[in-house]
Amino acid sequence: MSAYDYDVIIIGGGPAGLTAGLYAGRGRFKTLLVEKLITGGQVMTTEFVENYPGFPNGVAGYELSQQMREQAERFGAEIRNGEVTGLKPGNPHHTVMLENGEEVVGRAIIIASGAQPRRLGAPGEAEYMGKGVGYCATCDGALYRDETIAVIGGGDTALQDAVFLTRFAAKVHLFHRRDQFRGAKLYQEKVFANDKIEVHWNTVVQEIFGDKNVTGIKVQDVKTGTVSTLPVTGVFVFVGIQPFTGWLGRGLLDMDAFGFIRTDEDMATSIPGIFAAGDVRVKLLRQISTAVGDGAVAAFAAEKYLEEHP
Ligand code: NAP
Repeated sequence: MSAYDYDVIIIGGGPAGLTAGLYAGRGRFKTLLVEKLITGGQVMTTEFVENYPGFPNGVAGYELSQQMREQAERFGAEIRNGEVTGLKPGNPHHTVMLENGEEVVGRAIIIASGAQPRRLGAPGEAEYMGKGVGYCATCDGALYRDETIAVIGGGDTALQDAVFLTRFAAKVHLFHRRDQFRGAKLYQEKVFANDKIEVHWNTVVQEIFGDKNVTGIKVQDVKTGTVSTLPVTGVFVFVGIQPFTGWLGRGLLDMDAFGFIRTDEDMATSIPGIFAAGDVRVKLLRQISTAVGDGAVAAFAAEKYLEEHP
């Protein structure tokens, strides 16, 4: 065994990974967490988190991320920057390949590489991210009380969240690129029954514009070619989400059609000793609170696995 051998290797440093690091570290396991960018994951790009328990007045995303990292490190988790490019399962050790050619070996692996909302790719989207452009209704919806906003997409998320956003917004313009929703009929009915929602069929976004923050959206009717602008203060993009599992390839672990990893309720994947936690796995609700729960369970399950496979 080389100097780089670990009991637990965690891939990804969002809330799920950092919580797994905290628990594995506290369990006195030699723990390595590998993070591609900066720890915190999607929380780092969330300006203000209002739905994480324990912070009645909310908490800045970067601050929560930093505190989660400090806590994991305090209990001994080693955090390293690096991009993981592959995973070679083995018995009793699994090998994690890094971009720089290095390989690290762990007895248990926790995949917490996360997911990200799919981007629309429209001009202005990146510029106004966090300044009117958002990807999470439960996180940011309350910021748009009595305002006029746009929702983009036609799947379950767009339909469900358009309805959710009417709790706050005075008006929700829902833009879909086709003349039929992809989302479930039940959600469609709720959208049609809600008089705060105006559906714009066959409409694509050409641009999101503003000054300091978003002030409007330019859209095109794909049937007539007509281009129009609409004043809105918020644009919610719900055009699907993508798990960060491309590095794993297909066929190694059991995944759904979208590439999310299937686990049992103890976060075990289809390969013994490899666990998955947080947004990267197939689950109902993707939030910081559920990621943290996943991370704790994954680390505890890894601990049990290590005890049973000394
Ligand atoms: P989704 O089902 O993949 O739908 C994405 C929507 O965005 C589609 O309507 C698609 O249009 C549209 N879209 C994609 N790219 C676009 C682009 N570049 N410009 C404009 N529109 C674009 O994604 P989702 O709604 O996030 O759902 C993901 C998965 O989670 C689904 O399996 C869904 O059923 C599930 N989910 C379930 C629930 C629930 O059951 N409670 C809630 C949320 C999500 P087209 O229809 O034209 O392709």
